[in-house]
Amino acid sequence: MDTVTRIKAAVVREASPGERRVALVPDAIDRLRPAGIDVLVESGAGDGAWLPDAAYADAGASIVSAAEIYRTADVILTVTRPEPETIRALRKGQAVIGMLSPLAAPELAADLAARGVTAISLDGLPRTLSRAQPMDALTSQSNVAGYKAVLVAAGEYGRFFPLLITAAGTARPAKVLVLGTGVAGLQAIGTARRLGAVVSGYDIRPSSRDEVTSLGATFLELTSVGSAAGEGGYARELSPDEREAQQEELSAHIARHDVVITTAQVPGRRPPLLVTEDAVKAMSPGSVIVDMGASALGGNVSGSQPGETVVTGNGVTIVGAENLAATVPAAASAAYSRNISAMLLHLTRDGALAIDTSDEIQAGVVIAHDGAVVHPGVASLLQPAETQPAQSQPAQSQPAQTQPAQTQPAEPQPDEGGAGVDGPSH
Ligand code: NAD
Repeated sequence: MDTVTRIKAAVVREASPGERRVALVPDAIDRLRPAGIDVLVESGAGDGAWLPDAAYADAGASIVSAAEIYRTADVILTVTRPEPETIRALRKGQAVIGMLSPLAAPELAADLAARGVTAISLDGLPRTLSRAQPMDALTSQSNVAGYKAVLVAAGEYGRFFPLLITAAGTARPAKVLVLGTGVAGLQAIGTARRLGAVVSGYDIRPSSRDEVTSLGATFLELTSVGSAAGEGGYARELSPDEREAQQEELSAHIARHDVVITTAQVPGRRPPLLVTEDAVKAMSPGSVIVDMGASALGGNVSGSQPGETVVTGNGVTIVGAENLAATVPAAASAAYSRNISAMLLHLTRDGALAIDTSDEIQAGVVIAHDGAVVHPGVASLLQPAETQPAQSQPAQSQPAQTQPAQTQPAEPQPDEGGAGVDGPSH
């Protein structure tokens, strides 16, 4: 008789609007089984990524109802934050693993802790640690999003991306500018280059210059603002003067491009405004901007609306790109499945999750455990307002009711496990 303790890990159907990804794909099941992990799948969980229940059943998963998952599962695997009704169904001793963005919603961590649920957030991973790289969901999803941003831009653009010489005339290649050349930006550059565009890239971290040029793009040099390399390979927030100088100098460059894709993020802060209203006004009719930083807090582009496409009075199309990775659901799910499986295997010892925040990876990702919010960055956001550090950048355009003091993201500290817990939302 098999007396080995086994874990039941459950894949739930994502409930947030437009979310088509699924946390595990069928081929993960074989990799988890030898580690004592059995997989339950909520019926229909893979439908959005064209993964039918039968594919999971054939791979050895049990197809069950949501109610059975909440009753029997040890670990719930999600892509994004669970919905409130899901959280209410969780019970003491269960764990939830996903991209929970706890710095944007620390009250979720408090709620899970109060229920005795262990919360693990992949977006808190110390990404520069080489052994953590298979678990890096921010990178895998940013890659997908950066690729899709170019396709979205090409779809909106009324001309060709490549140089085309035909009997009906010659079309010059599109001039594409990518602002913010981290993971998503570099993927956008590569994709735009493969479509034949003439591409430039710009980032406030000078170290990205070689990455940009190695992809065959030109690195845009600004003279008015220097380096803003921050902790752990991320950018720091610019001062108001630096911001203004950057915006002004960028405006002239933006006007010379047909397509602008913005990806700039600063961990735990609202995205920096790179394309001002004046810069948009200076662009030619037919130009396209895809703002991957678009969010309720405001994006990289003046006038962008998350989840919407607007056309300005001077004929510039601004796409407020939201959750682009979810629009490439099969590829995004396959990559995410690898990331979350690697995390689950890292955490599993002898048929149980072995939570140990002295481990550098766990220190970054474990948010709530044993009834308490254990991540210092998230815990500090839950302190009463008067004991919190001062906010350095109020969100000017944000309605008051969506910006309670506790939910304003804070700058992660170097001792919080590397990268910010609430990374980019793309
Ligand atoms: P991100 O999503 O936080 O930001 C996107 C880009 O925006 C960054 O390159 C950032 O420098 C840039 N940016 C921010 N403010 C800006 C401004 N005002 N003007 C212009 N650009 C601005 O970044 P990311 O894609 O998550 O990557 C951040 C860093 O982490 C990069 O250095 C990347 O190479 C590194 N990284 C390393 C690993 C690893 O070591 N395995 C994995 C992932 C990312």
